[in-house]
Formats: sequence, C-alpha cells, structure tokens
Amino acid sequence: MSDRDAIVQRFRDGDKFLLTTHENPDGDALGSLVSMNAVLQALGKDTVMFMREDEFPLPYEYRYLLADDQAIHFEPGDLLDRTVVFLDCGQFERMDVDFLRNDALTLINIDHHHDNTRFGTLNMVEGGASCTAELVYSLMKELGVELTPFIADALYVALVTDTGRFMYSNTGPDAHRMAADLIEFGAVDVHDVYVRLFEDQPYAKVQLLARALATLKRFDGGLVTVCNLTKDDFDETGSEETFTEGIVDFARSVSGTEVGVLVRELTGEGREHQSKISLRSSGDTVDVSAIARGFGGGGHRQAAGATTEKTVEQIINEVRDAVREQLAGDATPAA
Ligand code: AMP
Ligand code: MN
Ligand code: MN
Repeated sequence: MSDRDAIVQRFRDGDKFLLTTHENPDGDALGSLVSMNAVLQALGKDTVMFMREDEFPLPYEYRYLLADDQAIHFEPGDLLDRTVVFLDCGQFERMDVDFLRNDALTLINIDHHHDNTRFGTLNMVEGGASCTAELVYSLMKELGVELTPFIADALYVALVTDTGRFMYSNTGPDAHRMAADLIEFGAVDVHDVYVRLFEDQPYAKVQLLARALATLKRFDGGLVTVCNLTKDDFDETGSEETFTEGIVDFARSVSGTEVGVLVRELTGEGREHQSKISLRSSGDTVDVSAIARGFGGGGHRQAAGATTEKTVEQIINEVRDAVREQLAGDATPAA
C-alpha cells in the first residue's frame, strides 16, 4: 500500500489526531492546518491543532483563520492516543518541540517541499504540488468530505499565497483547477481575499519596506541583490517580524539578479544573535534551497530560508560564493 493510501486509511480509521505545521507559519501552513482540521472534524474525529504559544499573534492577514484559543500550546494528556499530522513542514526541526520526539508516535507528513526529509512514519510528499493545500484538497475529496465556506476560503488563501498569486513556476493546471473549483463553490470572495492579503497594509509595514529598499545592494555585477534589516528597523517603525513578507521579492525583481536575499535580525527574546535569511532565485539556474541547506535551512529551488548566527557580512559572502559555485559548476545544479 502506498503511503498516501495508508494515510487515507488512517484518517478513516483513526479516532484522535493532533495537527501541526512549521514555525513562523505562512498562508499555506495555516490554510492547510485549519482546513485539514475541518476535514477531520467533518469525519467526526477528535482533532486538535498544536502551535507554540509564541507564534501568536499570527501574521495579521491570517489571524482570522485561527484564534489563539483554538490551538493547543502544550502536550495533550492523551498524546499517545493521537496520530500526529505535520502539514507543510519540510523538516521535523521546523516544529521542534520535545514532546513530538517520541518513537511511540505515528507521524503523518503531508508536504510539497522537494527537500522534505521524510521524517514521518507515513510520508505524502509531492514536490510538484503548488502548495500543501493542494494535497489537503485531494485528500478531502478522496475522503468524501464536502467543501464548506470555511474550508474553501482557507484552501484558497493557501493557494494564492504559495503560488505568488498564481505566478510562480509551481503554478500548474491542478492549482488553477482547484482555484476554479473553490470559486465555483460560491463561498470564496476573490476580491475580498486580495484586499485582506495584499491591501490594508499597516503603515509600519510599508515603512519597513522603505528601510529595506534603502539598503539594497548589488554584488557580482548584479547577480546577487541584497536587502537587510536590523532589530532597530523593527523597533523604530513599530513592525512585527512578519511584516517582512514579500520584501525579498523586490531584491529578486531587480533586472539581472539571479538571487535575491533578505537578511533580517530576529527580534524575539533569546534570538537576538540570530538572523533569518530569505533567498529567492529568479530562474531555474540557481537552486537556493541548496544554499539554504548550507546554513542549516532548506526550502524550494526558487524560495528558501534559514536561521543562522552568522553576521550579515559572512552571510553575504557565503551566498555569493555558493551562487558563483553553482553558476560555474553546472547550469542544472543537484536538487
Ligand atoms: P521565507 O524566506 O521565510 O519566506 O521562506 C521561503 C521558503 O523557504 C519557505 O516556504 C520554506 O519552505 C523555506 N524555509 C524558510 N525558512 C526555513 C528554515 N529555517 N528551514 C527550512 N526551510 C525554510
Ligand atoms: Mn509554508
Ligand atoms: Mn507551502
């Protein structure tokens, strides 16, 4: 039996589930989490969603999907009775909580990162899928669960955000068919989703963007374009960490750029010496997930990230070296 079939069977036969996703959740992470949860509820299952307390408040644009008290923040007493489901999480370390490191647990891993480490007991990893929500949608249909307005909206938000509004190269016919289904169902207000996700921006967020753009630097004849933000930039504009969403795309968008980079200092307690790196490649020539793995992170070929204690200068130098190596080595670097 394939892992996918075994997962479907487990969803049919199991009684209790615990669902989770990666840290710093994005639209796909949250959309997949809450829609999978609703699908299991529709099947009459006892299901809980786990997310660390420090993830709240969620990014403002996704806050309506999941209230703080709709998730649990600690190990449930009946953990060993529950099947654990990871959604959109390429590595176990991206939801690194001690209680989930337990060999007695059955872990289901549903994801679309090509470099997923297949850490689950059962793994449904489809690197060609545009988003994890696409996999949730196909499981939902196979399980015979009907769309609801809530599920349709959550799946649509995941789809729109992970495909870059249907523009990234991961946007295949399945993504468009799914969008058509969700819109046809009648409960997705396309323009309303657009406004919620991309308009209505807090002023501080646009000020943070202005600061990041003021730091824009080009290296190696423009092949590598970098922005960076310090903790002061967040403090002085009154920005939350999640306000950086989308900034790295401006670095990539500069003509001639192979890799766009955003380096930002983390602001959370105890993380002051760490920086988050976001990498985006403009074509298929450079695989940024390989570069991110060099910093202990990972991701997709064209969008990847990592967290590191290295300085901005070290990071930039290492990224430049890695880009140079990939461009010199082969036009089709190893995945
Ligand atoms: P971001 O730059 O945070 O928007 O992340 C881009 C992509 O890189 C995400 O979709 C993840 O797949 C991946 N990613 C980001 N941060 C990490 C990390 N610390 N470890 C592994 N993968 C990451
Ligand atoms: Mn994600
Ligand atoms: Mn995703």
